[in-house]
Amino acid sequence: MMDMHCHLDLYKNPHQIVAKCKEQGLYILSVTTTPKAWSGTNALALGCERIRTALGLHPQLAHERDNELELFRTLLPSTKYVGEIGLEGGKEFKPYRQQQLNVFRTILRNVESAGGRIMSIHSRSAATEVLDELSKFSNAGTPILHWFSGNKAELDRAIALGCWFSVGPAMLRTKRGIAITSEIPKEKLLPETDGPFAMMGNNMLMPWDVNLVLRQLSNIWEEDLSNVQNLLLSNFRSLLTK
Ligand code: MN
Repeated sequence: MMDMHCHLDLYKNPHQIVAKCKEQGLYILSVTTTPKAWSGTNALALGCERIRTALGLHPQLAHERDNELELFRTLLPSTKYVGEIGLEGGKEFKPYRQQQLNVFRTILRNVESAGGRIMSIHSRSAATEVLDELSKFSNAGTPILHWFSGNKAELDRAIALGCWFSVGPAMLRTKRGIAITSEIPKEKLLPETDGPFAMMGNNMLMPWDVNLVLRQLSNIWEEDLSNVQNLLLSNFRSLLTK
């Protein structure tokens, strides 16, 4: 299976986690929250063909780390994956709205000039704003909206823009998350955990907990686990061969 959005570098014992992922043959999109974290996080995956490290600048850190945009530009040729990037619309981040927008736009502009990337995107309480930006930078590559929580109109717009979606166990624990997931085209959906940020009760999610997503999708779609697994693998291949 694959975990399309997890923060390997933020686990207490990342080397052990990586070893277990390798043992289980998991594919991982290992996202980062700052350009400075990229090299160290990429080094964690050394010798693991199935772990790819995305270059990111998390919107919740945009106002503190916009001085790392130059480093972002320098590192961009080293990877085909960008994330975590995006916009965060939560109340506590309202004062930094303009800085977040500047950072997101600068990143999308750079990614576009670099020929596009697969991008894992945060859009909490800011789906419309994220989609506005993505539509301005239509050659920035393939956006994967991670833990999408917009409304139906925003979802339809995202689908029309060619977005993909990654959904995790925490999202699928809520009625709203299930309702959104059931509206996502099956062929545009991939599993994630968002570990170790995302939790299930008191347990932090581990990359192999994507298996929980399989079970949840099997219920939502009323499909056998093996069908769900085949579909997700086929989605994964089609994303990578785009
Ligand atoms: Mn995340």
